[in-house]
Amino acid sequence: FAKTCAAGMQFRSEYRFISRDRREVWVHGEARVVRDEFGRPLFIQGIAFDITESKRAEQALRRSAEDLEMKVAERTVALKEASLRADMANQARASFLANMSHEIRTPLNGIVGMTELALDTQLSYGQFEYLSTIKSCADSLLNIINDILDFSKIEAGKLQMDHVGFHLPDLLSDTCKTLGFRADQKGLELACRIGPNVPEYVIGDSGRLRQVLINLVGNAIKFTKQGEVVVQVEVLSRADNSAQLKFAVSDTGIGIPKEKQSRIFSAFEQADTSTTRTYGGTGLGLAIASKLVALMDGKIEIASEEGRGSTFSFIVRLDMEPEREQNISRSTNPLRNLPVLVVDDNQTNRRILAEILTNWYMQPTMVAGGQEALTALEQAADRGRPFALVLLDAQMPEMDGFMLVEHIKTDPRMKETILMMLSSAAQHSDAERCRSLGVAAYLTKPIKQSELLDTILSLLHPADPCATQGKPGSSPASAITSGGTSPKWNILLAEDNPVNQRVAAGILEKRGHTVTAVENGLEALQAVKVQRFDLVLMDLQMPEMDGFAATSAIREMEETSGRHLPIVAMTARAMKGDRECCLQAGMDGYVSKPINPKVLLATIESLVCRPVMNGQPAHNQKIQTMNHNHIPATVNASAPVPALPETKADALAAVDFTELSERVENDLTLLQEMIELYLQSSPRLLMEIELGISKSDGLTIQRAAHALKGALQNLSAGPSARAALQLEQLGRSGELDSVDQSLVELKTEMDRLRFELDRWSKEVCV
Ligand code: ADP
Repeated sequence: FAKTCAAGMQFRSEYRFISRDRREVWVHGEARVVRDEFGRPLFIQGIAFDITESKRAEQALRRSAEDLEMKVAERTVALKEASLRADMANQARASFLANMSHEIRTPLNGIVGMTELALDTQLSYGQFEYLSTIKSCADSLLNIINDILDFSKIEAGKLQMDHVGFHLPDLLSDTCKTLGFRADQKGLELACRIGPNVPEYVIGDSGRLRQVLINLVGNAIKFTKQGEVVVQVEVLSRADNSAQLKFAVSDTGIGIPKEKQSRIFSAFEQADTSTTRTYGGTGLGLAIASKLVALMDGKIEIASEEGRGSTFSFIVRLDMEPEREQNISRSTNPLRNLPVLVVDDNQTNRRILAEILTNWYMQPTMVAGGQEALTALEQAADRGRPFALVLLDAQMPEMDGFMLVEHIKTDPRMKETILMMLSSAAQHSDAERCRSLGVAAYLTKPIKQSELLDTILSLLHPADPCATQGKPGSSPASAITSGGTSPKWNILLAEDNPVNQRVAAGILEKRGHTVTAVENGLEALQAVKVQRFDLVLMDLQMPEMDGFAATSAIREMEETSGRHLPIVAMTARAMKGDRECCLQAGMDGYVSKPINPKVLLATIESLVCRPVMNGQPAHNQKIQTMNHNHIPATVNASAPVPALPETKADALAAVDFTELSERVENDLTLLQEMIELYLQSSPRLLMEIELGISKSDGLTIQRAAHALKGALQNLSAGPSARAALQLEQLGRSGELDSVDQSLVELKTEMDRLRFELDRWSKEVCV
């Protein structure tokens, strides 16, 4: 040791000992070698300390540092696992939502599809209304399902709001009509009030607004046992291009306790959380509604008193379409100063009707019951100014609307008075009773303003052949006249789908009309420049130029000519609001595909008969018949027609031959042509769908499936049309997870269809 240690060098070390009593003892030693003048070691000089305590502290510190490190590592692993679990939960949620939406949408699509098909058959007015309501309910249900899926989108800030024009009064009335049946069943009055100066044509997201209203009105009905539900809209302020509107839904229901009012807007929150809850529901509706209103820069508020009722209101600003005619014009109004009596026991209804009728410059007198009504009628007759019109509520205490009608009918002084019954949707026998009592018209509540106006106008001007809607027994079908002696017209048909083109042309030519067929809007525009037509049938979705653009170009041209060419839209979408879109775009009428010959002819007839600007019926202005592109008539009316096979009782038959034979009016040649056209065009459309799927391109899928659906509906091939509709909707929604499966379904159905058509062709040839 002395040899190796250099001079002056210090030596330090630590030693651990175990003492006799088995304790651990640490010693720190320091030593140095002391040398003589020649550098030889003399002795070692050193010192030792007991460092046991500090050593223990140091060890404890190290151990706790190691513990900490270990805990941090464990925590990191736990966090990673948690985020993995959250990811998995999110994925599970997303796929659950996707699956759920698919599962619900599939049967709903069936309901929508079947209802659409049923709507295109010949129906009584009542059946037509019921089916329309089913369809509109199913449509809104589909919307709600989409919106529930959107909930996560809203949370993620990914929801886009639409900014398109719509007719606000129609949106409100349609929403109320959708829920009218439910209100009726509970014996509730459902009324809709549109305040003065509310703009008619506004721009915004009508679908979202409708969803919010449906939710609020739906809740109001659900939580109200008796009384009424009132939907109102009022203008708070109006600027040049926009209006601030306040919507309110009030009920006389159970109300919500103060302390629970703020909670109900959170997801899955309900005022009554007990296990014995009386009312079902998810607690999601208000959460979605309040988020949607927030996206419209508004806020939902609630005013409620337990046991007395609630009012949910929200304020939003909507842009206006300034150039649209916003109200009935004072000078041309035929209803001006017309005395009208309104009999309704419900005060809110009376107030609303008074406001509507006054807005139309009529002179309403309001009474609450049958006795009062009779007194008012007699007094008016005595004064020599009897009421021109009486609007009666069907359900009233003591003397109901029908009893009142019976009384009125006994008084000869009132035989000129037109009676109109307002009845609830649930009372389907009312129509029959109205007819037998001589009531001129009935409308189902809640009243839609445009419907009321149309009906009143049609009753006061019965000569107008176009005004038949709303009368008892009148239906789109009953307004039809047969083609035998009617005048022949020159019709332009703009339609890119060959099967649709053939069907429409076949129907029209059979009535002796002349048809010029073109394949897109541009060609239609060219055609109207060089020829005079009595009417245009305009498909909406076409290549090059669609039906909307073509219509607006035609309307623009007419600004200088002063002429008005009737344009009828043909569309396979038949969605709520489409009709309004078409009318807003300057079209005069609307027929949905697959084409129902009677509806088509009735629509055309009602439009071509209508007087035009210079006072001449349009068909008198006809100048020439067409030449190029003229579809040769294939109809051989005198040839014996072999019977078409009957539809199998099985609702899933690939083709409904009964319906099909009605469509082609038993014309086998036309039918064979249609089948050929279908066989030619369908493989290309199928290929386009496949292409769309391979590129995950929803738009291509939607378009091709839409065209294919149209062709299939024309053949009354329900199951395959529905399969195509499903693909169309998947394409539109962009949710392509299940397109493959839907494509398989479509192909299977189309194979089945082909088999049926082959078999039929063979039978016919034999
Ligand atoms: P759901 O109706 O599906 O339960 P919502 O989110 O629409 O879900 O409503 C949440 C809760 O708010 C309801 O469960 C109910 O307790 C209360 N509520 C909503 N609207 C009304 C109303 N008009 N009257 C009384 N309570 C209401």
